[in-house]
Amino acid sequence: MSKPIVITTAITGSQPRKKDNPALPVTPQEQIESTHEAFEAGSSLVHIHVRDEDENSSSDPELFARVQEGIKQHCPGMIIQFSTGGRGREAEQRGAMMHLKPDMASLATGSVNFPSNIYENPPDLIESLAASMKENGVKPEVEVFDAAMLYNAVRLSEAGKIPKPLHVQFVTGIPGAMPTRRKLLEFLVDELHELAPDATWSAMGIGRHQFEVNKWTLQMGGHARTGFEDNVKLGRDALAPNNAALVSLITDVAADYDRYPAGPEEARALLALTSAV
Ligand code: ZN
Repeated sequence: MSKPIVITTAITGSQPRKKDNPALPVTPQEQIESTHEAFEAGSSLVHIHVRDEDENSSSDPELFARVQEGIKQHCPGMIIQFSTGGRGREAEQRGAMMHLKPDMASLATGSVNFPSNIYENPPDLIESLAASMKENGVKPEVEVFDAAMLYNAVRLSEAGKIPKPLHVQFVTGIPGAMPTRRKLLEFLVDELHELAPDATWSAMGIGRHQFEVNKWTLQMGGHARTGFEDNVKLGRDALAPNNAALVSLITDVAADYDRYPAGPEEARALLALTSAV
């Protein structure tokens, strides 16, 4: 029987707009429109970074609030996830918008090397972000950039610092972190099932690996992530015209794997979110 899949769209990454991808949505209005197109194409979860007027990564709660409000209005029930990611943002600012109570927020449970810097997530920062999420009723999406982060997330959930059931995003394909290898993903998923049997998971591949990893998760029973944050191309060469086109790559083949895109209500149930549509 066909099984639902939650498709996350990471609409905006940290790359410069004009150079790499003129279609990258950076203003709140562009982000709302791009999310709406992705929603119509079958995505039920949006992962959000905001940019300031100079298009630099920002932690301004005002910007998050505007995007959140527009998405709530135009994409009824879509799961809204704020990034607490580090690029271009000071540690103490990374959870500054949690009082807006998005449905979810990303939480990396360890540090890792990126190509030219360290993505620093020291233990006290992880715990303070987790505590802020708990206080505001925000479900963490655990971002696993390296295997140790999986075990740390399980430890934190056993200690009651991250609520159960866990939702984990396996991040692959960043040079210096975990490579995109199916055997590695299978191992990680197997470990997650053993250590946290009620957990849900998704996986992503950066750049040219994105669609390949999408197909693995369709087949393996996980959820999927796509969007300009991870990849801007439809295939080897063609630039994707928008985020929706990347979502459509997944929905177009979902039936081949006996999967169908979960709507917002179903996605909330699958991820055990308590917030209503
Ligand atoms: Zn992100």
